[in-house]
Amino acid sequence: MIVRNLKCPQCGGIKMNELTTGYIYCDFCSALMGYDMKNIHDEAGDVFSPENMSKPLQTKYISLVQKMASALNEENVDDYVELQIQIKEIEFDLFPKRFSPKAKQKAYRRKYLEFTEAMWIENIGNGYFKKSRDFREKINPLTGKLKSHIENGKMIYEYNSDFEEYLMALDEYLKNSVKESMEMKCMEVYPEPVNPSFDVLYKQSFDASLQMFDSDTVSKALKFLKLEDEYITIVNVNMNVSECFVCKSKLKIPEGSIAIVCETCGNINDFEKQKIQCISCGASVAIHDSNACEFCGAVHMSFSYNSESSKSSEQIQKTIYKKKGGSFFGRLFK
Ligand SMILES: [Zn+2]
Ligand SMILES: [Zn+2]
Ligand SMILES: [Zn+2]
Repeated sequence: MIVRNLKCPQCGGIKMNELTTGYIYCDFCSALMGYDMKNIHDEAGDVFSPENMSKPLQTKYISLVQKMASALNEENVDDYVELQIQIKEIEFDLFPKRFSPKAKQKAYRRKYLEFTEAMWIENIGNGYFKKSRDFREKINPLTGKLKSHIENGKMIYEYNSDFEEYLMALDEYLKNSVKESMEMKCMEVYPEPVNPSFDVLYKQSFDASLQMFDSDTVSKALKFLKLEDEYITIVNVNMNVSECFVCKSKLKIPEGSIAIVCETCGNINDFEKQKIQCISCGASVAIHDSNACEFCGAVHMSFSYNSESSKSSEQIQKTIYKKKGGSFFGRLFK
């Protein structure tokens, strides 16, 4: 079979299953092993297509992004961090492929938002506003040179040497920010079992920056930066079909697998122990009627999150904002 040439940073396994979201999990040990930019880019195209553009969630998202841009200009720390969290919350529903399938679980969302807050507070403490100002001063003359035209309501950029100059400046900035972010304390609360590699974080940030371009331009840009996906052929692989312990979706499990993330409900199935791994505390738990972890109480659900998302995200927000005033950091990194 032809598979993605991606090695797991934890166990060395190669990705066997097809990719359904932007997060690539190891089929053998369930660690985060990479990031699929194509899936994410296609999703962004759908979300902001002309017919979806004026939907309530899209409108709210755009207004928050505009507010965030003003907070950045004014260098207003509190507003900026709060807006980053609010934007992330909408992104869970608007761009599900941008997140792990685990983000269908409340416990994971909460952890992800706590990480987001910790990351921005630390980032700003490390001079983010000034770095971002310097970067804009450098990149604005370059973006000013880019040529574009409108085609079917979409902005299409001309791919030329000016565009490549812009890409190189962006590349340099992102590489530096990612190097810095890997040293950050907030990585201790990154909600994945293995801290992401430079490659994963770099691709993640690059994709966000390429969002405004059309697919054709993005493919050329990825080729130019040597970020194209590579495939290899693997022979003689036995894949066993089984059911997710929580949502009963079909899972294809390669021989030798210990744990696998169900891409439908996000729960981590541990076939060796016949249990799931708690998304919140990592303990091995048997599935009971309540689906609640016997160690930390986190509930493992088998459903799609949408029906109650607005209510629960408000609750998540309240818990996070309550920790304002430095106490959150003090508690985490004592
Ligand atoms: Zn692995
Ligand atoms: Zn499942
Ligand atoms: Zn637990």
